[in-house]
Amino acid sequence: MADKPLFLVVEDDRSIRNILKAVLSTQGYGFVEAETGREALSLAASHVPDLVILDLGLPDMDGLGVIQGLRAWSQVPIIVISARGQERDKIAALDAGADDYLSKPFGMGELLARIRVSLRNRARLPAWDGAPTAASFRVGDLKVDFEARRVFLGEEEVHLTPIEYKLMTVMARNAGKVLTHNYLLREVWGPGSGDQNHYVRIYMAGLRRKLERDQTRPRYIFTEVGVGYRLADE
Ligand code: CA
Repeated sequence: MADKPLFLVVEDDRSIRNILKAVLSTQGYGFVEAETGREALSLAASHVPDLVILDLGLPDMDGLGVIQGLRAWSQVPIIVISARGQERDKIAALDAGADDYLSKPFGMGELLARIRVSLRNRARLPAWDGAPTAASFRVGDLKVDFEARRVFLGEEEVHLTPIEYKLMTVMARNAGKVLTHNYLLREVWGPGSGDQNHYVRIYMAGLRRKLERDQTRPRYIFTEVGVGYRLADE
C-alpha cells in the first residue's frame, strides 16, 4: 500500500459523496469517485484503490453486482453504506464479499473506525505471493498462536476442540469484521455444509464459555443480531 491510501467512493447522492470526500481529505486519504456501478468497476480496475466505500442503491446496477464484479479479481476491502437497514441486505452484501456494512444515517466517527479496521485486516490477509501472514493474533488477554496452534488467555492455555480452534483462527484472521453464519460455515465446515447454521451457534457458544469471563458482557466475541459474529480487534 502506498503511504497515502486511495479510496474509491461509489455513491450517486452528491451531498453524501461530498461529505465523504471532506471526511477522507481531513484524514489525508486520497480518493476517486464514481456515481454508477459501471464507472465504479472501471475506476477500480484503472486505479486499484486500497478501499472501496460503496452505496448499494445505484442508478445503473445493484451494489451487490459491483461487489461481485470486484471480487472476481480483487481482495480490496469494501465497506457498504446503505439506506437499506434490512438484515437480509446486510447478509447478502457480506456474503457477496463486502467487509463491513453501515446503515445510513451513520456517524463519521463510526465510518472512520470501520475504515481503520478494514485497512488493518487487509494487511493481515495472505499476500498474493504467498508470503507468510502474522504468526499470532492478540487482543486484550487473548492470544492465538497460529504456529503452535495454541490459544491463551493471559498466561493460561485455553483448551479448544479442533473445530473450536478452526473457528477461533477464522475469527482471528478477520478480527473486527462481521462474519456471517454462512461465511463461518463455509470456512470452518467447508463448502457443501449447507443450511447448518445451528452448528455455528453451538460451537460459538462453546468458544464463548471458554473465552469470556462474563457471558453477559462479552469482551471478545460480539453477536451481530440476525447477521453473524464479530471478534474484537482492540
Ligand atoms: Ca444511492
